[in-house]
Amino acid sequence: MKIKIKKQIISSQEHGVSRDAISANALKVLYRLKDAGYQAYLVGGGVRDLLLGKKPKDFDVATDAHPDEVKRLFRNCRLIGRRFRLAHILYGRDVIEVATFRGPHEGKSPSHADQNKEGRIIRDNVFGSLEEDALRRDFSINALYYNIRDDSIVDFTGGMEDLNNKILRMIGDAETRYREDPVRMLRAVRFAAKLDFQMEQETNNQIFELGHLLEDIPVARLFDETIKLFQGGYGLRCFQLLREYQLFELLFPMTETSIIGSQEDEKTLKIVEQALRNTDERIASGKSVNPAFFLAVLLWYPMHEYKNRFIERGEHEIEALISASREVLTRQQAYTSIPKRFSLMIREIWHMQSQLQHPTRKRAMRTLTNKRFRAGYDFLLLRNKVGETELASLCTWWTDIQTKNQSEQEAMCDALVKGQKKSKRRKRRRTPVLSKNS
Ligand code: ATP
Ligand code: MG
Repeated sequence: MKIKIKKQIISSQEHGVSRDAISANALKVLYRLKDAGYQAYLVGGGVRDLLLGKKPKDFDVATDAHPDEVKRLFRNCRLIGRRFRLAHILYGRDVIEVATFRGPHEGKSPSHADQNKEGRIIRDNVFGSLEEDALRRDFSINALYYNIRDDSIVDFTGGMEDLNNKILRMIGDAETRYREDPVRMLRAVRFAAKLDFQMEQETNNQIFELGHLLEDIPVARLFDETIKLFQGGYGLRCFQLLREYQLFELLFPMTETSIIGSQEDEKTLKIVEQALRNTDERIASGKSVNPAFFLAVLLWYPMHEYKNRFIERGEHEIEALISASREVLTRQQAYTSIPKRFSLMIREIWHMQSQLQHPTRKRAMRTLTNKRFRAGYDFLLLRNKVGETELASLCTWWTDIQTKNQSEQEAMCDALVKGQKKSKRRKRRRTPVLSKNS
């Protein structure tokens, strides 16, 4: 169903969002634009989340000032983006994004507006009016404009009604809009998960038809979206929805294959779900999360499968681990890029697993002081929790050793090594020795 354009103005008494809820920096930007004679609106997630009583992640501003005019007004301004030119106003680590109203592309030169043969927008720098801007946004609930002049909210696309009915609705024709920018499919999943909204029928159905278009999106952008999906506080729900919409397999095909084809008691699915549950809890309690840890989880069992193949081909355990890590990370880069700092950490977490599983006195003491110890140890606990039960006593050992002083730690290592020697001897005695003639 297409959206009927009907301008509605909701007064501040009616919508009930107070100016105090808007960040001081966003207000500064809005006031300065307004005082210079430009239109200035808060738009997007900031307005949507305030109306829903949630804390906005960031504040986005829309204006009729052109990027260069914005730059002239703010010393702390950087212009970014080519496909879509934007101004970032920087206040320390806080960034207020200021976008000039966008307009329709019809009849515009390719230097301002361009699409590829699938309909994907590859340049979007045609400026327009407030109303035109609203129609170029993705979902109706993301196209509500808070007017700093009178604190009213302007709605052209029925966003208020959809917000009240908990509906996620693509503005305009869903197929065309997904073709213009297939990443909107990932955004649809993210908002449906985060807000617990139902997708309107076409917004929903077209994802099944068009998911494959994500294959043409630059892998760096897909990586950024992946982080938003999994590290935004609603990761578990996003993961489940991505799988329902058959999009997960486009982002992490090796993990999906491992989930469906795994003969190992659904360990891949369990470890991903458990890691996401932990991530969501950490974010809810204000703790930091590291994308590398989660990526290490996603790709662990796929890596393991490669490792076994390398071992079958005659490689030694450690060698096989190194080859398999390289193989899996290289293959994954074809779907979502993984910045070097993360891929290094993923390798470190994986390699540390073998150090944690085979502690000798020297190695254990070194492992304890490794800067990745915490991540490696948490990873080991997670593996144990999802079914690698043989790791249970090792997990207890590593948990205990952290509570001891140095000489106690050394004594624990010695005892462990003695125990290992004994059990090796016992094993050897049990293994029947074949005579030369047999
Ligand atoms: P959040 O910041 O909570 O993730 P958001 O809705 O603010 O959600 P942003 O990525 O910050 O999302 O984008 C700000 C706004 O810009 C959106 O609300 C939407 O109106 C518009 N927008 C962003 N990405 C797109 C897109 N791919 N297509 C159309 N409009 C978009
Ligand atoms: Mg935002």
